[in-house]
Amino acid sequence: MKMKAVVMTEIGAPLRIEEVELAEPKANEVLVKIEATGVCHSDLNALHDETTPIPTILGHEGSGIVVEVGPNVKNVKIGDKVALSWVPFCGTCEFCQTGQVNLCESAFGPMFEGTLLDGTTRLSLNGEKVYHNSLLSTFAEYTVVPEMSCVKLPDEMPFAQASLIGCGVATGYGAAVKAAKVTPGSTVAIFGIGGVGVNAIQGARIAGASKIIACDLKEQNLEIAKTFGATHTVNVGEGNVVEMLKELTGGFGVHFAIDCSGNTNAASTAWQATRKGGTTVVVGAFNPKRELTLPANGFHRVGKNLKGSFYGDVHPFLDFPIIAELYLDGKFKLDELVLSRIQLEDINKAFDSFHNQCCVNVGRTVIEFGGK
Ligand SMILES: [Zn+2]
Ligand SMILES: [Zn+2]
Repeated sequence: MKMKAVVMTEIGAPLRIEEVELAEPKANEVLVKIEATGVCHSDLNALHDETTPIPTILGHEGSGIVVEVGPNVKNVKIGDKVALSWVPFCGTCEFCQTGQVNLCESAFGPMFEGTLLDGTTRLSLNGEKVYHNSLLSTFAEYTVVPEMSCVKLPDEMPFAQASLIGCGVATGYGAAVKAAKVTPGSTVAIFGIGGVGVNAIQGARIAGASKIIACDLKEQNLEIAKTFGATHTVNVGEGNVVEMLKELTGGFGVHFAIDCSGNTNAASTAWQATRKGGTTVVVGAFNPKRELTLPANGFHRVGKNLKGSFYGDVHPFLDFPIIAELYLDGKFKLDELVLSRIQLEDINKAFDSFHNQCCVNVGRTVIEFGGK
């Protein structure tokens, strides 16, 4: 079929709308009509990344309707409303069999190669191959994705809000609920208040934390953090952060610290501000050239857990519907994360807004295609 899509043809160049050919879904694949897609900072990074296979169609935060299924598809049927996950999993490897589907390796090769799970593509432009992005390529009217990327949501779930669940929302919620396993009445510090951090705050709130302390350099972000459930804020540029967090927690430090910043210094601070026996979760991606430094003195005596978490340890098929139900019950804020709504033709404006200093970095510009 032919469809309108935004094609990245050059590293860093403005994106262009083209008429792209999309082949039909093969076994275990699904054709989805995209209804909403968020424009993420990771899309901006991919646009400027020399290793992105081009030409490609970016976009990895999406929701839509299943319009066709390939052979063997069992998880969804035509007409289902779905949110997309950019971490499809095989279901059979040791990680999948033990419930750690976020650690399944099957998606990583295709993710870097720009293909679907079988190593081939379904996209072409004027007879030339076009690569997929994060196995989703949502900046298009339609997409063919693995069935393990399609998570059925309730029909009442609005598309724009649904489109955001599969990236920063799931990662932040999961960091608090699944990875840290925040407990009722506990104290939690969240480092880095962005698209992941505000959702870690929401996860901690839902898990019943008594104190949720937002830590960031920007006053504006700290103010936003309060609207998502932070009970206290600490500006990390103003004084000794570890001491400030201990002061707020009876001298012990927090039960749980979650670093969403991707900054190794912040992660080290988060660990130092965690009380004995507590848990520090690192969910932000570090610069691979940096090293994480922790004080060696007394390391064995303090009994702390330090855990890295990919995709917030979520299981998309279990956790996306929970987040959707929490939203529909008025307990999880997603409306506030939709900062503006645009058409596909205006996509370059969304990328330009990342360079605008006054652009709030916790939410998303969402591209809509007309569905409700
Ligand atoms: Zn994203
Ligand atoms: Zn697997």
